[in-house]
Amino acid sequence: MTARKLEDQPSRAEASPSEVVIVGGGPIGLELAVALRHHNISLRHFETGTIGQTITQYPRQVRFFSSPERIALAGVPFLTAHQEKATREEYLSYLRAIVGQFGLVVETYRRVVEIAEEENGFRLEVVPSVETAHDPAALVDDPAMPRESVYADNVVLAIGDMHYPRLLGIPGEDLPHVTHHFTEPHAYFGRKLLVIGGKNSAVEAALRCHRAGARVAISYRRDALPEKSVKAWLLPDVRNLIKSGQIDFYPETEPVEIEPGQTRLRHVTSREEITVDADFVLAMTGYRQDPFLFEKCGVRLIGTNARPEVSLETMETNVKGLYVAGTAAAGTQGKFKLFIENSHPHVQRIVQAITGKDAPFETRDTSRIARGLPEN
Ligand SMILES: Cc1cc2nc3c(=O)[nH]c(=O)nc-3n(C[C@H](O)[C@H](O)[C@H](O)COP(=O)(O)OP(=O)(O)OC[C@H]3O[C@@H](n4cnc5c(N)ncnc54)[C@H](O)[C@@H]3O)c2cc1C
Repeated sequence: MTARKLEDQPSRAEASPSEVVIVGGGPIGLELAVALRHHNISLRHFETGTIGQTITQYPRQVRFFSSPERIALAGVPFLTAHQEKATREEYLSYLRAIVGQFGLVVETYRRVVEIAEEENGFRLEVVPSVETAHDPAALVDDPAMPRESVYADNVVLAIGDMHYPRLLGIPGEDLPHVTHHFTEPHAYFGRKLLVIGGKNSAVEAALRCHRAGARVAISYRRDALPEKSVKAWLLPDVRNLIKSGQIDFYPETEPVEIEPGQTRLRHVTSREEITVDADFVLAMTGYRQDPFLFEKCGVRLIGTNARPEVSLETMETNVKGLYVAGTAAAGTQGKFKLFIENSHPHVQRIVQAITGKDAPFETRDTSRIARGLPEN
């Protein structure tokens, strides 16, 4: 369908509303689409990037912490070549296979920028989004942007929780040698790299860049790397490299200013400052959710995570007919408590609420975390 400007859009009566619109083509959005299609629910499914967009942003060749069977979708076995945890690339192939096997129609590079509650359901505004970093608020206000109005009885927001990096908020953060996204280690070969952060992503990046020939330093605000937040097999490795002086570790420090070639760190208690040489800075400080769509349609956000309030039986929000699935239900997660493994039950709850029937595959929580939502 050709996208048109707002004033040319068909009304709800002229357009035929779908029973459900799913926003988000990540693992949980895809798993839900399989179940709803099985029950012949009329569906439109939008994804602002490609399918599994969040996973495309993982570093190349990174491995999942979950065993393959725990992140398998819709009852389709996920077997890896070496019976080990899957890489980013293996899981993206698997997602493509899921879409192919079930004939899912995901409208990729189509961003939902607005959801409005109407008398008989919802109206969504959808715009092209080849550039996924667009500010959704700006798109809504841009009259030149071609858009399509889409109508639905129910909407499921499976939009994830990793929309923007958490910024340090210090001078120099926007310099070209600073990034919040670790793509691959090769870029840092033979250069000095400062990694900011001490959780799993930071430690994994530090180890990979060290082994790819970078001189790595880590600045972390706590006195030691956190055992509970780093993969068990990485900790002894990084500790040994720190002990032997091959990786520099600056505990209890925070960056205060980044300049070309060097970064100033401050000790969190003594307030003493030191300058560390760094050709590149990787700020592995986590991500935050964009609450824009929730706020747009009046979903209540609660707790310090600003997570959407949902019924644990149905995943329906305070807005009737509007559901949340997957990590989107967690808000901004300080410590990850909701991920693929324990989001499968959301699919069953939503399918049951909308169709009155069960999902046609097992959706039990395969993680050790029994509760479906993080505490605030
Ligand atoms: C390095 C790394 C390793 C990880 N390892 C694991 C692991 O081992 N096990 C595990 O369970 N989890 C893991 N995770 C977390 C995992 O990525 C998430 O749990 C998972 O992606 C959540 O799936 P989801 O479908 O809920 O959301 P997402 O995968 O985040 O999907 C949401 C989708 O919605 C789209 N979207 C957002 N807004 C809009 C909009 N307005 N319009 C249209 N589309 C929109 C996004 O582009 C995205 O594709 C890891 C994360 C990282 C960074």
